[in-house]
This record gives sequence, C-alpha cells and structure tokens, in this order.
Amino acid sequence: MTSSSASSATSKPPPPKGRPEALFPLFAEAAKLPGIGPRLQKLLEKLTGPKVVDLLWHLPTGVIDRRHRPYVSEAQPGTIATLEIVVGPHRPPSQGSRAPYRIACSDDTGEITLTFFHAREDYLRRTLPEGERRIISGEVEAYGGQIQMTHPDHILKPEDADTLPPYEPVYPLTAGLSGKVLTKAVAAALERVPELPEWLDAAWARQQHYPEWHDAVRAAHTPQAAEGVDPKHPARARLAYDELLANQLALALVRARMKRARGRPLSGDGNLRRKVEVSLPFDLTRGQRVAIAEIEADLKEPYRMLRLLQGDVGSGKTLVALMAMLVAVEAGAQAALMAPTEILARQHAKTLEPLCAAAGIRMAILTGRDKGKAREAIVAAAEAGEIDILVGTHALFQGSVAFRDLAVAVVDEQHRFGVRERMELSSKGVAGTDVLVMTATPIPRTLQLTAYGDMDVSRLTEKPAGRQPITTRALPLERLDDVIAGLGRAVREGQQVYWVCPLVEESDVLDVAAAEERYAGLKATLGANIGMVHGRMKGAEREQVMTAFQAGEIDILVATTVIEVGVDVPNASIMVIEHAERFGLAQLHQLRGRVGRGSAASSCLLLYKAPLGNMAKQRIATLRDTEDGFIIAEEDLILRGAGEVLGTRQSGLPQFRLASLEDHADLISVARDDVELILNRDPELETDRGQALRGLLYLFERDEAIRYLRAG
Ligand code: ADP
Ligand code: MG
Repeated sequence: MTSSSASSATSKPPPPKGRPEALFPLFAEAAKLPGIGPRLQKLLEKLTGPKVVDLLWHLPTGVIDRRHRPYVSEAQPGTIATLEIVVGPHRPPSQGSRAPYRIACSDDTGEITLTFFHAREDYLRRTLPEGERRIISGEVEAYGGQIQMTHPDHILKPEDADTLPPYEPVYPLTAGLSGKVLTKAVAAALERVPELPEWLDAAWARQQHYPEWHDAVRAAHTPQAAEGVDPKHPARARLAYDELLANQLALALVRARMKRARGRPLSGDGNLRRKVEVSLPFDLTRGQRVAIAEIEADLKEPYRMLRLLQGDVGSGKTLVALMAMLVAVEAGAQAALMAPTEILARQHAKTLEPLCAAAGIRMAILTGRDKGKAREAIVAAAEAGEIDILVGTHALFQGSVAFRDLAVAVVDEQHRFGVRERMELSSKGVAGTDVLVMTATPIPRTLQLTAYGDMDVSRLTEKPAGRQPITTRALPLERLDDVIAGLGRAVREGQQVYWVCPLVEESDVLDVAAAEERYAGLKATLGANIGMVHGRMKGAEREQVMTAFQAGEIDILVATTVIEVGVDVPNASIMVIEHAERFGLAQLHQLRGRVGRGSAASSCLLLYKAPLGNMAKQRIATLRDTEDGFIIAEEDLILRGAGEVLGTRQSGLPQFRLASLEDHADLISVARDDVELILNRDPELETDRGQALRGLLYLFERDEAIRYLRAG
C-alpha cells in the first residue's frame, strides 16, 4: 500500500495522529482514484462525501439481474431483460423532427424496437450495424401494442457476452451522475480496500456468518440477487455492526474517561433543598423526585457526573436542575446554569429568583448583554465565591469567567449538542465539575443508546399536576376565515396566540415571505397587536419581540419555526399551525408544547391542506391521541425512520452510514454488551484485538475517542 497523502503538497489538515497507515488510501480524496476528474469529484462530494471511504459507505439499494434472457416474444414490459437480437433497419427521425431514432430488431420469435433520443447516427450505425447479431440488456417497455427498449444499458457483440455482469448494483444517484459512472468509481475505491486485522469477536462473527471486513465491503457492493441488498445480509449486517460497534466503543471510552476523571463526592445536608421545597406552591412530581434522587446519588460518587435529563417542555426540568445545584451550594461550592439563548437565560433566572431567595442564597445572571462595570462586578463576585449560582448563556462559559469553586454545571436545551461537544465541555470545564444536560427533545429508547450511550439518563415522563390537557383539532385550510374570526374573539377575552407559518422547503426567504403575508393579513382583519419573528431577523430583534409577547404586549405572534424552544409564555393558550401536513411529528409536538403551560385550557389548531396523505393523517391522529413526548417520539421513529428522526447534522446526533436503526436495532445492544466485555478485559485497547479496534475507530472517524486512552 502506498500512501497517497504523502505526495499531496496542499495545506490540508494532517491525518489524525495514529491513524493506521493501511487506512491512508481510504482517506485520500476520491479524486485520487483513476478516472475521477474534478467534475466527478464535485458530484461525488455532494452525493457521498469527498473521500475514497465515502464511496465505500455508499451502499447499493437495489440490484439488476441481467441473467434473465427470454426470447423477444417472452419479454415482459416493465422487466429487465437481456435479449439476443438481429439488428434490422434504422429509422432516423426526419430532419428537424423531435421524434426519436428507432431501430427495428428481432429474433425468431418476435420484434422489438430500440429507441434513442438525441441520438448520433454515426455512433448507432457503428454499434448496431444492420444485419448483425447483438446482445442488448435493459428495461422492456410497452409501446403501442409492441415492445421497445429505450437506451439499452448494454449493447454487446455475441462473442463478448461473458463480459456482461450477471448482476449490477443500483445506487442512489444525484443529477449529473449516472449509475454506470458511480459503479465504476466505487469499483476503483474497492481496489483500495486493505485487509485489516479482525476486530470482531471470532465466535460472534462465525455465529452470524459475517465475512471478514474487506470481503464484506466488496460483497456489499456486488450484490448477487436481491438478498444482497437486504440489510440483514451477512455482509451488510457486518458493516452495520462495525459502525455501531465503533459508535458504542467511542461513547464508552468517553464514559470510562469521565468515570476515571476524579470528581469530588458532593453531598449537602439538604437544608437548602428543604427550604425550596416548602416554598413551592405545589408538590414535586414523582418523576422529579426520582430524577433528583438519581442526581444526588451521582454527586455522592467520587467521579464525575454526566447525566442527561430528558423531559417534555413544561415537565419541570428547571426545578430538578435547581436541586442539583443546591447540593453543590450546600457543600460550600458553586453551580452554573447555561442556556442556549439570552431570553432563556433570563427566563431561568426569573424562575430561580424567588426560589433562591427562599433558600437564602445568592444567584446572578450574566449574558452577552452585560458589559463593562456591571459585567466586571459579576465576574469578580463569581471568582470570589460571592455568587452561589450563576445563570448565563453558553457563550459566557467559553470566555473569561472563573469560579472560586464550580462543582455543578447544568446545560439546558442542548438538543444540538454532540458527543464531541460534550467531551470538550468536560475537558474544558473546571476539573471535577459534575455535568447535567437538560433536553426537551424526547429521544426514543433505541436512539438514546446510540446518541447518548455515554450518559446516564433521567426522564420526566409526567406533567406537573394541575395542567389542563391541550385540545388538538385538525381543520382544512378552507376554514381559515372561521379560524381567524375565532382568534379575534379569543384575543378580546385576553388570550394570546402563536401562529406558526409553514416551513418552505430549502428556502428561508420563502418562509419569511409566507410569514409576512400572514402577518399583514391578520393585522388587516383583526387589527390586534400582532408581532412577528422569523429566522432572518437578528437575534436581539427577535428577542425583543419575544419579550413583548411574554409581557402581554403582543396578542398574536406570527412565527416561522424559529420560535425559541422552551420560551415560557403561560398566558399563550392557542397554537395555530398552518400547513401542519408539512411538519414532522416531533416538530408538531414541540410547537404544541408552547401552549398548555398555564392553568387555562389551551388548544392547538392544525390547519392542513386537503387531501391529507396517509402519513400526515397518521401524524395528526397521533397528536390528537397523546401529549406524551416519548410515545410521540417512538411513533415518529416508526413513521419516518431513524435517519429522519436523528435529523440534520446540527442535531448533534450521530449519522449512520451503514447501520439503519430500523433494521439493525437489535445489533445496538449487542454492540453495547460487546464493548462492555472488551473494555473490562482490555480497558486501554492494548491487546491485538484492542489494536484492531483502534483501527475500527479510525475507520469510522471516531478517533477523537482514542485520545481518551492512556496510551492514546
Ligand atoms: P421545562 O424546563 O421542563 O420545560 P419548567 O421547569 O420550565 O419546565 O417548568 C414549567 C413550569 O412548571 C414552571 O412554571 C414550573 O414552576 C412549573 N412546575 C415545575 N414543577 C412543577 C410541579 N411539580 N407541579 C406543578 N408545577 C410545576
Ligand atoms: Mg426549560
């Protein structure tokens, strides 16, 4: 194996330290492969990724069987057939006509027309000379009571018949890239596949009939019959397992490192927690009690806490976070709460203020808005230990803020947080700081392991008592006028309304246009106090509108989907979602969660464009049936598939190239158990298998985890 990166003189980042040399060819640019020029490289970059290895991860979704060789009279329209024919007369289109070029062909049993659009006559005369025998392969089509084949995939002389591949993979493509070209590129990539030392447990691999890795890659790209593209096919299952194993191993290494990281055993005397609890006008829910107990147990341990607190909007996560922070304060240390936006930070501070007062402790808020002297004073107080709990935005903690003794950090609404960021957080943070991450995005159990396998998880599944259920109704858009009239009445009664405008695919400009139009329309008909927020507004501008809505100065807030997650406006009791059929289930649930936060009855109106498709119908039915985010998340997974639920790259959740969580869900727990065994026996990955597993981590670009090994 030669290293192609050595010859490259460009200023690309060097390969990660320690990447096995055998993998270099796979991590070279795809353009380094023979036959791949700049144009193709661009297309590949878009479709699969920039590197050779990305081509390998681009698996076929189907297979063409070219072995079907009927006589012409037996060829069925709609099937792929390989036919041996005698070329008949050419019928070029008359000058200037848009008709295709046709060639009448036949065998002893019947006739078939070959059809070519934009054909070059000289080329066709050369490849299909009249009177000669040819083998053609392609899709048979019905054509005016006869059959035809448009642009055969293959045209061969009879003596070359054995060069026709019996099976051909079918790949997902992109405009400008043909299957033929992609197949060739993949074949070139396959040439680079090295033999790597086996990282799988031999007994498990044997039992599953898994081929070795390099054979598996090859087999996955050269399916023989339809079973070859079945996700359960041993070659594909093996690749999926490899990917899941790499993922679980990376998470486990981070976790092991966290556990090794010396934390401090934190336990207070409970006096502050008691003071807060008696000051509450309500009882803690059972879920809150359980979560608090779990956190307290973590904090007692002499290693670091890394716990995820999952709970729907309004499930009462803030109070759980406060209790965690109070343990730190009781122990004489400090705590911090970080929110993703200014407005959420302020909201937290407002919620915490009376509770901290009840406990007699010092709380302060620091955001990007605090400047100059005021900022300096808070920073100095934090450093001197005069502040017990500091609330702020994430940015705050990336800067110069130092604490006298920060023991607990709570990170709110981190649905955009990935494993990498979590690792950074824990390494950047003060040594020994315990971390609690809160998220309002319910994650199905199957996905949780792959996304948060490195974290312990607490879930708040019930809503606090006294919440009114939200009435959810679906109405066709034709009823828009009635809906608007109804809103007019509600607003006069003092209710506040969210109006969410549809997401326009791939265009925030159109999003905004739609929102602006609705805004103008509502203003014209209702004349009420109407505000608008959308993604093209500046952060500060948007927050100003949100604050006005919160203060009740705005009755109807027209928004695109940017409405801040978690913003609490208890008086808002009506949520209108326009073109609900365009939203995903989880998104609809999140949006609906903005209402029903006060004691008044709330409603959610889903305006849809009729007729509804099956999926949309199902989504709306699920929403009407339940408000439980976890049930909705599971349903969403079934309806959309894991890839979609995991969402875009920003979600921070892992993107799997080979594993599909629907098809390989059973392998996730096997991989987790496998990893547990591996790390029990060989925590530093030093044995032969351990070394091979390091290679696996590099292969799947989870190499950041290797830094967490002692001998990394
Ligand atoms: P989340 O952050 O999970 O969206 P919050 O912590 O903001 O939810 O809580 C939402 C509201 O519910 C707050 O007004 C809070 O005071 C209230 N709340 C929290 N716990 C309870 C409870 N056990 N019973 C009644 N109300 C509660
Ligand atoms: Mg919250």
